Amino acid sequence: MPDCLFCKIVTGDIPAERVAESGRTIAFRDLHPQAPTHVLVIPKEHHPDLAALAATDGGLLAEVAAQAHRVAEAEGIAADGYRVVFNTGPRGGQTVFHVHAHVLGGRDMTWPPG
Ligand code: AMP
Ligand code: ZN
Repeated sequence: MPDCLFCKIVTGDIPAERVAESGRTIAFRDLHPQAPTHVLVIPKEHHPDLAALAATDGGLLAEVAAQAHRVAEAEGIAADGYRVVFNTGPRGGQTVFHVHAHVLGGRDMTWPPG
């Protein structure tokens, strides 16, 4: 795999504060949280972006989405509501090209997003 920060978090070569794991995903706290709860859910397999993840067979995108909700429940933000974001491509604000769902909550979310 090309030099990928999140692949190194999957292997443990780079430390992260993990909060959940499923068969094909891990979840860990964002290094620069933008809300009281800010967790990233990623597939363990390397896929660069949402389009690539959506093109996989076997329900991997659904597993990432289900994990995002489980994390929200575990963090105590599911009942009040939370936001899941896939920044996609440079203009979408994506900076790490290993697909990840941001799970944000614990404060009111504004719309439209910046
Ligand atoms: P994006 O800009 O949507 O690609 O999101 C990348 C996210 O990864 C940003 O919110 C960063 O704060 C976060 N991030 C970068 N490096 C790390 C790291 N080593 N551990 C946890 N989160 C990170
Ligand atoms: Zn990767």
